[in-house]
Amino acid sequence: MQKKVLIVGGGIVGCITAMLLHKQGYQVTIVERNKIASQTSGESSWAGAGILFPLLPWNYLVAVNQLTMQGAQLYQEICAILLEETGIDAELTQSGMLILPPYASEKADDWCQQYQLPSQKVSHHFEPRLTQCEGESLWLPTVYQVRPPNLMLALRAWLEKNQVQLLEHTELKPLTRNDPLSTWQTTAGEHLSADIFIVTSGAWSFELLKETTSQLNIKPMRGQILLYKPEKNLDHIVYKDGFYMVPRRDGYLLAGSTLEDVGFDARTSEAVRDELKTKAEAILPDLKGLPIIKHWSGLRPGTPDNLPTIGPHLTIQNLYLNTGHFRYGLTMAPSSAQQLLQSLPA
Ligand SMILES: Cc1cc2nc3c(=O)[nH]c(=O)nc-3n(C[C@H](O)[C@H](O)[C@H](O)COP(=O)(O)OP(=O)(O)OC[C@H]3O[C@@H](n4cnc5c(N)ncnc54)[C@H](O)[C@@H]3O)c2cc1C
Repeated sequence: MQKKVLIVGGGIVGCITAMLLHKQGYQVTIVERNKIASQTSGESSWAGAGILFPLLPWNYLVAVNQLTMQGAQLYQEICAILLEETGIDAELTQSGMLILPPYASEKADDWCQQYQLPSQKVSHHFEPRLTQCEGESLWLPTVYQVRPPNLMLALRAWLEKNQVQLLEHTELKPLTRNDPLSTWQTTAGEHLSADIFIVTSGAWSFELLKETTSQLNIKPMRGQILLYKPEKNLDHIVYKDGFYMVPRRDGYLLAGSTLEDVGFDARTSEAVRDELKTKAEAILPDLKGLPIIKHWSGLRPGTPDNLPTIGPHLTIQNLYLNTGHFRYGLTMAPSSAQQLLQSLPA
């Protein structure tokens, strides 16, 4: 008989976990308190920039690099399936990334060699419209991006088409006891049953489970992004000192982001708008005088060392966790879902 799985949270991690589990023959339901592929109360997946590469990988543990590298590779197949079966293009694009100085040149060279990532030192002539790039920049031609709102819409459409049940506008209550789970109660008082439960609730995962485990160390970390439409867009992702610009295919340009420890406050702020605008204009003076078309924020599931928790809950036997992907959940979601799948009972 098919095992019933209930996934709590319909962000990128929940949706890709659902896709993989469905393909493995599980009967899957996603419970999402808002609407999947929307931006209502700070959901991170819609808000992300969609760079499929860490900033910067030589600053992270091997486990983070493995999850991001494998995740980025798996998007080739996932995006092809989504395009073919839903007609929605997640815009997987090999934009490459240009890292402007200063950066740890030796560490970067060693890392690129170790992971066999093509790289090249380039001068100011590589992108003459940029300023603030005195000295050598590092060009990584094989870095990809996706467009998160499109990716989420495509996943939602695929899940619907494949009869994965989407229980939207349904919120689950925090667990209060360590007993085995046969049902999980919604805030409306309904009891939802399953054989296996998986928490993919991003920044909200800690609140859901804090009475039952000390396994999770997750807190919301806000990030804000500005949207421009320059007359001539950049050809590739540009990174400098924690700040990046990401060009989309249709001429839009994202400029971000921030790392703000402000709890569950998902508002944008004037101060950050000014700060991001100043940084963007300093690197690409063409942006001066252009309107900011949009300004948004998201709450990342922040974790120490950027390491997610993937696998069984330590005491509740049929409860699993796939959460805490912090800055790279979009990149890690496919590999993280695969890892979770391996920990489930056959
Ligand atoms: C500004 C910004 C830029 C970023 N850029 C990148 C990038 O370039 N590359 C990259 O890889 N990552 C990036 N990230 C990080 C990435 O977006 C996150 O790591 C990832 O989206 C986390 O996915 P998630 O599914 O765990 O969380 P979310 O997308 O937040 O999804 C969790 C879902 O759970 C739901 N939920 C919560 N509680 C309950 C409940 N009780 N009942 C039912 N549903 C519930 C929420 O409504 C939400 O939809 C960025 C993030 C931000 C904010």
